[in-house]
Amino acid sequence: MAQFDDTKLTVAVVGCGIGGLALGAFLSKFSVDNDIRILIEIYESKPEVSSLGSGVAIWKHSWEILQELGVEEDVVKRGFKVPKDGEAHGPIFRQSDQPTEGYDFHNHVMPCGPLGLPRPVLLDLLRTKLSDNCKIHTSKRLTGYTTESGTITLYFDDKSTAQADIIIGADGIHSVTRMTMFKALGETESKDFEKYIQPMWTGTLAYRGGMAKAPLAEAFPDHIVLSNPRSWCGKNKHVVSHPLGPSIGLICYTSQLELEDTDFTEPLIADVSTQEVVDLFKEWEPKLVQLIKRMQSPSRWAIHVVRPLPSYVSGHIALIGDAAHGMTPHQGVGGGQAIEDAYILARILTYKTTTKSTLVAALKVYDEIRRPPSQYAAEVSRSNGMMYEYNHPDFVYNSPGHPDGPSREELEKMGQALGKTFLWLAQGHIRDDWIKAQEMLEKI
Ligand SMILES: Cc1cc2nc3c(=O)[nH]c(=O)nc-3n(C[C@H](O)[C@H](O)[C@H](O)COP(=O)(O)OP(=O)(O)OC[C@H]3O[C@@H](n4cnc5c(N)ncnc54)[C@H](O)[C@@H]3O)c2cc1C
Repeated sequence: MAQFDDTKLTVAVVGCGIGGLALGAFLSKFSVDNDIRILIEIYESKPEVSSLGSGVAIWKHSWEILQELGVEEDVVKRGFKVPKDGEAHGPIFRQSDQPTEGYDFHNHVMPCGPLGLPRPVLLDLLRTKLSDNCKIHTSKRLTGYTTESGTITLYFDDKSTAQADIIIGADGIHSVTRMTMFKALGETESKDFEKYIQPMWTGTLAYRGGMAKAPLAEAFPDHIVLSNPRSWCGKNKHVVSHPLGPSIGLICYTSQLELEDTDFTEPLIADVSTQEVVDLFKEWEPKLVQLIKRMQSPSRWAIHVVRPLPSYVSGHIALIGDAAHGMTPHQGVGGGQAIEDAYILARILTYKTTTKSTLVAALKVYDEIRRPPSQYAAEVSRSNGMMYEYNHPDFVYNSPGHPDGPSREELEKMGQALGKTFLWLAQGHIRDDWIKAQEMLEKI
């Protein structure tokens, strides 16, 4: 695209997932608000913007900033309930890994619940907020980039190239942008950086699928899955069920802690049969097995994470979303963190003092503001997963029936601890972080 003289920056965004689209939408809005021209080129490897994945929980912090894009009316029109301050029921935690009826051990009440959106709806909402200066280029898989003599060149697998003033890696957990960044740092700074190139397998597999609500309600009118999100807990496995519009989403997790940080050699995402998932949970309570038997088109995802990075930026390159802090899904905040990264970064890039010559320092502000909270989110998420599967150092139990199985009192105590880990999701505001960032930008 031709670059006009009044263009402040040309931003190449690699990846058109939640983070990439949110960045495009926020950059579009703040460019108009600040009366500046920024060209945004989003490069997506797939032939179209993906509709893969099920529900995404949008917590208060992320919802507040999404509202700045003016999406609320559309969300309501599409029939989703927006988060409001006031008591909200979160997931109910349930002891389930025994062949008899289980029991709820913690009914979580939060100061503000999340908005549950199907991922394709979220992507669609963001897409409607892109300006004419934001273009999506599909079937463009980044293979690497160079930053020689002040020129940034992106290379794609169709042999084409592109140039930009800045690259934002929003290319997910297996980010080529992160790999290129840390490979270069490994060569020029220290070999230590090489450990950040590849993500790490957690030893956990997630089997994702769903089912229509109506036939389930007809067969089991009082089934507990119909009303609330639930975490069905047990030793080394757990299941999350959540009502989502006319559907029920189901994610069944199995973990082998001893396999953490080993290579996962099979396909990262694979279709599996419903029977394969049923077999994994056949010793669990009948109410859950009933559900899993109805799971449609399940797919198996190998859950990888990014080791806590020492920086999300290097020169004119920055990472957002899973590329920067791919985390376990056990608090349902990965997508929200990508949106929050996008908001702060878009604010910084469109700020009056940010120019090509101050870009390196401005990106360091992004790193300072966003790295601590997103890495905290990753840590809490990991810790929660350990609790759901009775492997947390403070709550190690076996399945019921074993001498070291959990008592109801012990699980209730763990439920209290779990409840506390959700409190931060309703505290503070991302706009306050932006005020802090602004003060830092003024000192550059
Ligand atoms: C089982 C499970 C459940 C989850 N539940 C929740 C939840 O309830 N709430 C929540 O907030 N989060 C949840 N998450 C996490 C959430 O899905 C991610 O954190 C979020 O999708 C990250 O967004 P992203 O844009 O950073 O990456 P992605 O969504 O992975 O998008 C990356 C994009 O980059 C593209 N891409 C990749 N490589 C290249 C390349 N080389 N060149 C060009 N394009 C490329 C991809 O095709 C993709 O479109 C869950 C994750 C899992 C696995």
